[in-house]
Amino acid sequence: MEETDCLFCKIVAGEIPAEVVHSTERTVAFRDLNPQAPTHVLVVPKAHFANAAELAAGDPVASAELVTAAAAVAAAEGREDYRLVYNTGADAGQSVFHTHLHLLAGRSFGWPPG
Ligand code: AMP
Repeated sequence: MEETDCLFCKIVAGEIPAEVVHSTERTVAFRDLNPQAPTHVLVVPKAHFANAAELAAGDPVASAELVTAAAAVAAAEGREDYRLVYNTGADAGQSVFHTHLHLLAGRSFGWPPG
């Protein structure tokens, strides 16, 4: 289910390097290249879906696994408090159209988000 020219499909396939910190049957977690917090990890499904809603509809087990994987990474990094973010669509800040859950931790976060 790899999509040609998808950056995160290439990371999942090992064709583009990334600092992988966790993986499960259906997910891979790697550090964001441009971290916005001391811990900034992206958790992605191995299969290609464009956004969080498409993943939830197409593979609900993988969708749940993204959250449990993010919690496992937070625990491994000693982060009790963390923020999970899905950007969906360019206006919401999505720049890579392969579902990814941002795990952010290690500093205080404001609300509402910018
Ligand atoms: P979004 O803007 O929500 O689509 O998030 C995409 C994220 O991917 C951004 O936070 C980028 O910094 C990150 N990113 C882009 N290219 C890479 C890469 N090669 N390895 C790791 N993270 C990346």
